[in-house]
Amino acid sequence: MKKHVIGDRDGASVVLVLAGMHGDEPKGVDLARRFLDWGKSRATRYRVIVVPVVNPTGYARRRRVTDSGVDLNRNFPTDNWCTGRKRSRYYPGPSPASEPETRWLMRLIRREQPKRIVTIHSISRDQFCNNYDGPGKRLAEMMARRNGYPVRASIGYPTPGSFGRWAGDGLGIATVTLELPSHHSGKRCWADNRDALAAASGMRGGQ
Ligand SMILES: [Zn+2]
Repeated sequence: MKKHVIGDRDGASVVLVLAGMHGDEPKGVDLARRFLDWGKSRATRYRVIVVPVVNPTGYARRRRVTDSGVDLNRNFPTDNWCTGRKRSRYYPGPSPASEPETRWLMRLIRREQPKRIVTIHSISRDQFCNNYDGPGKRLAEMMARRNGYPVRASIGYPTPGSFGRWAGDGLGIATVTLELPSHHSGKRCWADNRDALAAASGMRGGQ
């Protein structure tokens, strides 16, 4: 996984922006890359770490799961992790944190101790939202004022072993799962979300 850093202020709080945890959601990867290109020359009060593709093997094939067949967003060691069927789109792996991608992200977060995390996904039709976990409600509301998406505490179905459950509820980090409307163009997603991402990242222009 490649990570990129915006801002170099010593001791600044860290904001983490992730995308591509599901390889069949290229809208999120596209948005993270646009944000990186736009944001890299801007001033920020934080240290912003961007990982545009959390699941490179899945992204290469445009598949939700990794090349081991695991849904990374069900593989985190949460209190509600549960086993699942192999070859399912939601296969959580043989055990919690069994996958190298999961452990890489866990190490990054333990080392960097981000105060905020935005993890970008996409979803069909009218389910787009700023979905928060843990103490992420205010961050979700701040983003909602800029992208116009609803704020939701739940996506409407159970997601055991999800990244949000682990980072938000487990570690107490303000975490927002930004669910883009998968039917919107990359250009539209960027226009709608630029200021939301800038504000989450402490950049001018998004305040
Ligand atoms: Zn997703």
